[in-house]
Amino acid sequence: MQRLRIDEYGMVQRGGNCDWVRVPRSRMEAELTGLTAALQNCRIFLWRSRKKRIPTLIELDKRGIYFHSVHCPLCDNGVESVDHVLLFCKHAFEVWEKVFKWWGLNVFFSASLCEILQGASSVTMADSGFKNWQAVLWSSCYLIWWNRNQMVINKKCWTSPVALCEIQSKSFEWIAERYKSTHIDWHSWLHNPMSLVF
Ligand SMILES: [Zn+2]
Repeated sequence: MQRLRIDEYGMVQRGGNCDWVRVPRSRMEAELTGLTAALQNCRIFLWRSRKKRIPTLIELDKRGIYFHSVHCPLCDNGVESVDHVLLFCKHAFEVWEKVFKWWGLNVFFSASLCEILQGASSVTMADSGFKNWQAVLWSSCYLIWWNRNQMVINKKCWTSPVALCEIQSKSFEWIAERYKSTHIDWHSWLHNPMSLVF
């Protein structure tokens, strides 16, 4: 194991005010640029999300950082917790609806974030299809958080259709990178991802 620096958004950094996390040496030795860095960022983000260590307003407030309000800065409908920003915020929900529809599934939201990250639901599919679905869920969480930061910092963000396109693209790239021996057809990925069982 070796340590990596990550910033407040869970992004890998080489300096500045960063936390440290431990990652496998094999990953540390990989060049942290491009797709590899994106995959690393996503893994670290998911790890921090499970531990409620991403800087939502309520988590920062618990750590003594004062804000005028801890309500969600996107919808102002409830405190900005990890579950809210990634699952229940209307901006996140619009994205999830599109992601589930893309896969021909009914959106489920009795689930916790941990269940979402594990890909758990009433979905039944072959192992390889399930891995693809899990990659989609993970990349969706990561990109929903990224989109939230764009809104908070830059006052602009993707619409849900654009967010879906980004999720389709990123998850396709990440699956291709992770399972190099597997060929995934882009057209099938876009139009019938459930068919991609191998
Ligand atoms: Zn919200």
